[in-house]
Amino acid sequence: MGAIQSNAQLSSWLSQGQVLFLFIHLLGVACFAYIVAKRLVPIFRAAPDLRFDRPLTRLGNVLKFWLGQWKHPRYKLAGTLHILIFAGFILLAMRAFTVLMVGVSENFVMPGLSGSAGHFYEATTDYAATVVFLCMIFAIVRRLIFKPARYAVPARYGKAHTADAVFLLALIAILMVADSLFEAARAAGQAQHGQTFEFAAALSLPWMLTNALRSTSLSTVGGVYFGGYLLHELTFYFLLCYRPFGIQFHVETSLFNVYFAKLDKGTIKPVKWGVSDEHLDQVKSFGVKIFENFTWKHMLDFYSCADCGRCSDNCPANAVGRPLSPRFITIKARDYAFQHYPMFGSSGNGKPLIGTIYSDDEIWSCTTCGACEEECPLLVEYIDKIVDLRRGMIDDGNVPQSLQKPLKALESRGNPYGKMEKKRADWANVKNFQDICHVKTLDKKNGVSTLYFVDSITSYDDRMQSIGRATAKILDHVGENFGILGAAERDSGHEVRRFGEETLFMALRDHNVDAIKACGVKRIVTADPHAYNALRHDYKDVPPVEHISQLIARAVKSDKMKFKPTENENDVYTYHDPCYLGRHNHVYNDPRDVLDAIPGLKRVEMQRSRARSFCCGGGGLMLFYEPKEDQRMGVKRVRMAADAGANVIVTACPFCMVNIEDAIKVARMEGKMAVIDLAELVSQQIGREWPDVRAEHAGKTKECVAASSSEVGT
Ligand code: SF4
Ligand code: SF4
Repeated sequence: MGAIQSNAQLSSWLSQGQVLFLFIHLLGVACFAYIVAKRLVPIFRAAPDLRFDRPLTRLGNVLKFWLGQWKHPRYKLAGTLHILIFAGFILLAMRAFTVLMVGVSENFVMPGLSGSAGHFYEATTDYAATVVFLCMIFAIVRRLIFKPARYAVPARYGKAHTADAVFLLALIAILMVADSLFEAARAAGQAQHGQTFEFAAALSLPWMLTNALRSTSLSTVGGVYFGGYLLHELTFYFLLCYRPFGIQFHVETSLFNVYFAKLDKGTIKPVKWGVSDEHLDQVKSFGVKIFENFTWKHMLDFYSCADCGRCSDNCPANAVGRPLSPRFITIKARDYAFQHYPMFGSSGNGKPLIGTIYSDDEIWSCTTCGACEEECPLLVEYIDKIVDLRRGMIDDGNVPQSLQKPLKALESRGNPYGKMEKKRADWANVKNFQDICHVKTLDKKNGVSTLYFVDSITSYDDRMQSIGRATAKILDHVGENFGILGAAERDSGHEVRRFGEETLFMALRDHNVDAIKACGVKRIVTADPHAYNALRHDYKDVPPVEHISQLIARAVKSDKMKFKPTENENDVYTYHDPCYLGRHNHVYNDPRDVLDAIPGLKRVEMQRSRARSFCCGGGGLMLFYEPKEDQRMGVKRVRMAADAGANVIVTACPFCMVNIEDAIKVARMEGKMAVIDLAELVSQQIGREWPDVRAEHAGKTKECVAASSSEVGT
């Protein structure tokens, strides 16, 4: 009888506020709908983006990256915290809805959650609320006292967001307390009259609060019941409506952001979705110049960033002090959206982004290495945005001085050095190389099955030509019927495209596609990951392409290739993953398998390897553009190799070779550290002797690039 009285009294406390609660519900939902509608305005004004294909793959991504929180454990402490909070939120979603409904319909029970299933759910969510509360306290302490470096905001990017983050964390903690108080007051009301407080799970927050309330008067319990409900409702709707004004908006947008995420790594978005290459001349303006030129998905990225700083923490440009931090590419754009698409008043101002929120240097500083995208737990994209911003600058004639000559040379000669086309195959004609390895030039369908696509740096750079010869020797050694395009080959255009020069890229690509088709080969091999990525992702209708490391690994596995033991047993090797072989194309194991097959070779891993590899400084046109920086990326990479205990860095990319070889000199580590390309090492170890030109040209790489650069246009 007493219990019935207590429940009835509690209910009457709550029913007194039904009108108020209903009003808050309606107001909260209306405000949220209005705010979201306002946030959608720029998205509806944005450029198109085709993201509705492959729904099953996209759903798989949602399960893996959103529900499964796949990338979070890459940062152990923060990742664990986030997983606990996320799991808590998912579990508590139905409970929060039930609590909200009870205020206006006191006997409301979620379908399927009555009886023992309901009891089990209540107990589970008691713990979930407790865990989320404790995580919030921990996160606040971490933010305020331990201050992880990656959350810091350098002065040039504005003010720190600590206060906002702490405020939001505190609000969630309050929501958990309010929910637990409401639960506890109901249980205490029952317990005061001899009933067991069946729904409070032992040692949970509601359980502790129930114990605290058990000895208080029923009127106090009723007040707490009412107050707990009101606090819960107000905090819930305040949070709901406040989140779209800051980093917590990702709670609402992340699911959609993950669903619509880019599916094909290594690719670059077209200039305009829905406009084919043939109709590009009808596009009046290329790239992103004003905010509304971004695609709707890229705007969704801006809303979805959690400001966790993981992208910038892994960005090599940021690490060496270049004026680029990917996190702030997003934060600045989001701030712009909030400022220019306000809740009240007119929206949009159409001012150019470059010179207002972004600087030229910032956008040119990116090496398109992909480390930021690899790390982001919410699959926020950067490379396409940066390329689009560059396209916009190029369209406005805003090209860095040092890049003008190489771009012109690419246009006129098909290579950035401005060298004659007929010299493209000179690397294969030096000394008596053709005597030991015949390299055919393919100018028609002459029965050759494999094309070795050399690309510009290996064709023209004295030092890198050694990689060309090594590759040819390997192909010859495994019995490949191969040839090269020679003078008919043009630069793959990989860097040209990533520097935003789409029209020039298309001209280079079309020329190469015609030349490749004309020689009728069945497959393509290259030792240059940039060419590999271009042929694989930027070109269409060309035969399948392989990187030489994949071919070697296959030859080793099928016993077609055997190595002699390493000569110096004291050498310790480490493999540097080129970005366009590893991160963009997932070729991580083949080069390592090849190294491990060399008898006596000792190999260690650098701390940053495989998907977390550290870019050496950017290939291609980065050789002609030097942004302001505190130190070279290559120098940092060489030191990482030394820290791992290595004295030989093996790479599988001519651009990495240029940067690392140069960095060894800058770091004054000559004699202590060496670098070799995988193809060169393999050609040594298979015993295909030929005078090694590497020694002859050692130290000339940068000079060659500089000299070639100065030759451009002459
Ligand atoms: S692609 Fe690489 S260099 Fe560019 S922003 Fe991302 S991490 Fe930085
Ligand atoms: S873009 Fe991704 S990794 Fe970078 S701060 Fe935002 S959520 Fe974090």
